[in-house]
Amino acid sequence: MNDCIFCKIIAGEIPSKKLYEDEQCLAFYDIEPLAPKHFLVIPKVHFASAAEVTPENSAVIAHIFEVIARLAAQEGLDGFRVVTNCGPIAGQTVPHIHFHVLSGRQLGSFN
Ligand code: 5GP
Ligand code: ZN
Repeated sequence: MNDCIFCKIIAGEIPSKKLYEDEQCLAFYDIEPLAPKHFLVIPKVHFASAAEVTPENSAVIAHIFEVIARLAAQEGLDGFRVVTNCGPIAGQTVPHIHFHVLSGRQLGSFN
């Protein structure tokens, strides 16, 4: 998608601090971390959010969760939270599906 900042990060048109990359997904550190460890994992294929997961594109979501488990072990995370915001009312600001991985401090309850 032409004007999508995460597609531009995938294409290397916007710099990012990459943690992991393969043919299906990219993990990079959030520019405004909300925890001592805060990275994002995104599929290379563009779709907006968890509301657009279908039988045709869901395999990449399973792959992303495998990658998250591997990265959590690699980074020595004790515990972590995975968050995907879906739509503006949930706080989604970038309409390319992404999974926040947060760790390194005690995380509070949801609000
Ligand atoms: P959302 O609010 O949509 O759930 O999450 C979007 C996240 O992307 C935010 O935490 C924000 O800090 C991060 N973000 C937005 N633009 C950039 C960018 O250009 N580079 C990086 N690394 N993170 C970004
Ligand atoms: Zn995109």
